[in-house]
Amino acid sequence: MSAARRWILRVAALVAPAAVAFAAIQIASRGTAIPIRALQLLALGAPALAGYVFARHGRWFGGGALVMNAALGALLLSFCAAPLPAEAPYLGDLPPATPPPTLAVYQLPTGVNHRTAAFAYRGGGFGDRRDFAMAAALIVHPRGDLLIDTGFGRDLPRQVALMPWRFRIVTDYQTATPAADQLVAAGRDPARLAGILLTHAHWDHVSGVADLPGVPVLVPAAERAFIDGGGWITAVARTIPAARLAVYDFDGGPYLGFPRSHDVYGDGAIVVVPAPGHTPGSVIVFVALPDGRRLAFVGDLVWQREGITARAGQPATSTSGQQRHGHAPRARRIPPTASRPSASSTASTTTALANGATRSAR
Ligand SMILES: [Zn+2]
Repeated sequence: MSAARRWILRVAALVAPAAVAFAAIQIASRGTAIPIRALQLLALGAPALAGYVFARHGRWFGGGALVMNAALGALLLSFCAAPLPAEAPYLGDLPPATPPPTLAVYQLPTGVNHRTAAFAYRGGGFGDRRDFAMAAALIVHPRGDLLIDTGFGRDLPRQVALMPWRFRIVTDYQTATPAADQLVAAGRDPARLAGILLTHAHWDHVSGVADLPGVPVLVPAAERAFIDGGGWITAVARTIPAARLAVYDFDGGPYLGFPRSHDVYGDGAIVVVPAPGHTPGSVIVFVALPDGRRLAFVGDLVWQREGITARAGQPATSTSGQQRHGHAPRARRIPPTASRPSASSTASTTTALANGATRSAR
């Protein structure tokens, strides 16, 4: 065999697993149209080529290629179904709640991220394209309206530019009307919001905070610390002025199997529990509606419904935690209000939240 041909084989052995990994991540992340069958053949042929080069054309090149194939195998295995153990169902009574009759929840969809089921959960299909919803939810409560997350804001392109290239090449988003503009269009003064209750501080949940100046951003201490130390994934959250971040404690008792809780208004209508994992300070927000229904806003604990129904975790490509699941909150579209609130009512609702439910961190 000529020296040139030997070098071609060595390089091919090294490039093949890297190419398969790159293509698999592209397909899973963005649904990029790459022939899956050809990729499968390459994935099967790559370790054979590495073994051949190891045996015949150089231990260093062949050994390196075998190590890369092992890493590729681990990556591809992480896409395979591996259901988490089934937990015993909760059979206790629902916690007491006396939501005010006027409490209402509205969804504010702000855009989507084009993904696939493979990206969302282990066992999901590479060809199963899913749009991950980027939504805020408005909770109307007489003691102060709250926004759960913000979804995409007006400044999204500039915010995405803060992220590293390896994130941008696997992210394909589409924007809709930002939450602040939806509030204004519905005749609601965004300044009337008593707070923005974050499920966690990733970019796609805080993007619209900048459109709502002066509204406190409510986070537990663990997420407050994560914002400062989270690296690029909290770069957008770090653009929020520190004075706007208000830290609350889990000062309540057990709630639906969670060890601690925080009842925002003391009426059981809006209860936050710690659910760390996706980020250190991720939370679930439970909302009790006046008609008896109960909602749970789970943030990014799962990205698609199968995360719950199939008890499926997320593949290795997803666990750096960039994106959002596809559950839009079950709620009505936001209607216009009959009249705009007065400045005094704005002040009183903000004060009620600040005094009754939160304490300022800094
Ligand atoms: Zn997230």
